[in-house]
Amino acid sequence: MKTLKHSRQRDSILNCLMNRHDHPTADSIYASVRQDFPNVSLGTVYRNLNLLADLGEIRRLNCGSGPERFDADTSLHYHFICQSCGQVQDLDMNVSDQINLAAQEHCGGRIDSHITYFYGTCADCLKKEAQRSLSADTTAAS
Ligand code: ZN
Ligand code: MN
Repeated sequence: MKTLKHSRQRDSILNCLMNRHDHPTADSIYASVRQDFPNVSLGTVYRNLNLLADLGEIRRLNCGSGPERFDADTSLHYHFICQSCGQVQDLDMNVSDQINLAAQEHCGGRIDSHITYFYGTCADCLKKEAQRSLSADTTAAS
């Protein structure tokens, strides 16, 4: 009975992650899953996320500062992290094998893959920045 309950919760966690493309944190997944399982604990969510990641069913993202995030898309793809608002986006671009070959020249072994995160400011935050400096200019002029 306990095993059944656990796997239903795990299904719900996986479902939640598959329906989201914002690379949520464990806390955020916990908040969603609690709507279906009010008694679920944060620890259970963490445990199941780690289990799913270890099984290769989901990906764990270590995006630098801040809590780790999770991705149901396990294909090789790059991520962009906005350092202003913290959102993590998928980058719709080809994964470069050239980087593997270039790195391989320096390691003396064989490079099979790489994980790269790109950091910067997202389009929304750039727009906000522009609006802020615009209104600052208006204030200064008046
Ligand atoms: Zn942003
Ligand atoms: Mn992703």
